[in-house]
Amino acid sequence: RAKRQGRGLVVLFEPAMEEDRLARLELEADLNRAFEKDEFQVFYQPQVDLVSGELVGAEALLRWKHPTKGFVSPAVFIPVAEEMGLIHRLGAWVLTTACCEAKRWPSTATIAINVSAVQFATGDLVAAIGEALEASQLPAERLELEITESAFVQDSKGLDEIFERLLGLGISFALDDFGTGYSSLGYLHRFPISKIKIDRSFVSNVPMDGQAMAILRSIRALAEGLDIKTIAEGIETPEQAETLRIMGCQQGQGYLFGKPMDAEAIQSRLRADGSQQRALVA
Ligand code: C2E
Ligand code: MG
Ligand code: MG
Ligand code: MG
Repeated sequence: RAKRQGRGLVVLFEPAMEEDRLARLELEADLNRAFEKDEFQVFYQPQVDLVSGELVGAEALLRWKHPTKGFVSPAVFIPVAEEMGLIHRLGAWVLTTACCEAKRWPSTATIAINVSAVQFATGDLVAAIGEALEASQLPAERLELEITESAFVQDSKGLDEIFERLLGLGISFALDDFGTGYSSLGYLHRFPISKIKIDRSFVSNVPMDGQAMAILRSIRALAEGLDIKTIAEGIETPEQAETLRIMGCQQGQGYLFGKPMDAEAIQSRLRADGSQQRALVA
């Protein structure tokens, strides 16, 4: 039947696509089950002050331990969870889990949580955040939401209201993967962004790559002019950290300072960091 309707439809029945479609259905079923079966876990990656070296925060990164496939990357399953609509429940779970964890930390480090544009587009994000703060009793000032430029693509009237309500709660916003999106710089000025996360792609090749250096310098100048803090992601070497520090970038995150780790490990890191800071002051 498909064949008679022309070429476009025939393509749908090619074996490779049929396989993709089945794999996709299986992934969706797995994700639904994973949520019921508690296969998700939140990891935490240190964020440090590039001048003092102090641990000032951590980013919550979702992990999925599949019973047979092992760890599945969020880069793979988040887009699928978004399309399925599961992202709302999953995102709310990450918010509550990470805020409760941060409340137990032996310091007042901030917790940065990624929210996808799909979550941002709806009013239930505000409710989910209210619930996470309520359940955890975490002071809102310690919560930072990481959003990407894709959050700005939607109708901006609605955005103003969402930002206003979230800002009213006392939380702050970091713009993730900065430099890789399409959004206009005007958004930085229009919305209450207090931190820019410089994308790893600009960090990997410094200080050797002159073009990456030029981009970093202009991001730093822009941020300084707008009174916005910067954090560089994906710092893997001391040279990269030093280069960014000299450029005036306040914070860094990356394997050099620590890979994403489980809740217990980040607690030990925070505890060790605290005694080290106290020793330095004493
Ligand atoms: P992201 O928010 O930009 O997170 C940074 C990613 O870079 C993380 O990958 C982290 O493990 C990785 N990374 C950190 N330091 C280094 C480094 O020095 N070198 C290298 N090569 N990589 C580094 P991960 O954990 O696989 O997460 C991928 C993306 O998935 C995140 O990118 C974020 O967009 C998304 N994601 C993760 N957790 C959540 C979540 O809870 N909700 C939502 N909506 N998205 C999430
Ligand atoms: Mg992030
Ligand atoms: Mg990022
Ligand atoms: Mg990135």
